[in-house]
Amino acid sequence: MKFAAVIVAAGSGARAGAEAPKQWRSLAGRAVARWSLEALLAAGAQTVVVVIRPGDQALAEKAFSGLSGWTAVAGGAERIESVRAGLARLGGDFDAVLIHDAARPFVTAAHVGALLAALEAADGAVPAIAVADTLKRNGNDGAITAPRDGLFGAQTPQAFRRAALTAAYAAWPKGEVPTDDAAVVERAGGRVVLTAGDPMLMKLTYPEDFVMAERLAGAARITRTGFGYDAHRFGPGAAVWLCGVEIPHDKALVGHSDADAGLHALTDAILGAIGEGDIGDHFPPSDPQWRGVSSDRFLRHAAGLAAARGGRLVNVDVTLVCERPKIKPHREAMRARLAEILDLPLDRVSVKATTTEGMGFAGREEGLAAQAVATVEMPG
Ligand code: MG
Repeated sequence: MKFAAVIVAAGSGARAGAEAPKQWRSLAGRAVARWSLEALLAAGAQTVVVVIRPGDQALAEKAFSGLSGWTAVAGGAERIESVRAGLARLGGDFDAVLIHDAARPFVTAAHVGALLAALEAADGAVPAIAVADTLKRNGNDGAITAPRDGLFGAQTPQAFRRAALTAAYAAWPKGEVPTDDAAVVERAGGRVVLTAGDPMLMKLTYPEDFVMAERLAGAARITRTGFGYDAHRFGPGAAVWLCGVEIPHDKALVGHSDADAGLHALTDAILGAIGEGDIGDHFPPSDPQWRGVSSDRFLRHAAGLAAARGGRLVNVDVTLVCERPKIKPHREAMRARLAEILDLPLDRVSVKATTTEGMGFAGREEGLAAQAVATVEMPG
């Protein structure tokens, strides 16, 4: 089911007690709101509207730098006004809308998948956890134990069929304040079901919540690995390009682009880590516009796709397989060039070389090969 999302990030966050509103505070190196935006984009949202306080545009642009597929819109004083502003901005072809609070940073594609599945038979779906604590009502006569049977705590994101949500908000009585979006759909007669909630969908409310969230942050990301392999044939020429460095040689590498097997293998490794096919899908050899181009643009494209999905390159490792040219004198220049293209610290970039002791096509110097591994940390 195609879906779009609204992230409500328009609160002043006074209870969290810090200098900046909580949605813009750093959580393990990223703004709290960025966690949700990355996760919803990675889960396949067609578009995400982030509702912010008027005047927070610069904060949003800084927090979301490098991400695409989102727009910001100014919200109102009450949450319902903010949600309405977000819904009004949503456009495009989708069947479902997710509404999410920015203060719940650990949403994942699995949460989204469960909600969308539940929407097959409902107008709305809400992740919820059965109340575990005994409930007390504190009155004038002292505390009274309240029954908790059948009670759940509701979380976000909450998912709705687009038409049902739009109609429900249009029908909501002016001046009344719903406690959440599901309440709006319920009031309009819609059927809302519960999906399994998750303690990881915790809401950051108080200062101590940030201490817990920092500890959980590592568990909310996954590490993905991709592998790449490429080979090119030698032909007449006076230099080869390898890992973005031109090396004088008595032959050249033959290929549609600059035939930089090192960059091609590494591009495929990154595409592999994020599940985006291979270099030929993105830059077909049949397309004349890629003839003779410098392969660093392929690598930048792959790294950009990873970044757009909330991925961060952790490290890359390339192995070049050839008898000649000798790689060792150029290894440090190659590392530096890869680090520059990928905007990575030098110690997270490795270039190695080996021969095949005269065996095979590389051994006979008919051509050379490259292998690469890339590790990418992504939203779970
Ligand atoms: Mg190639």
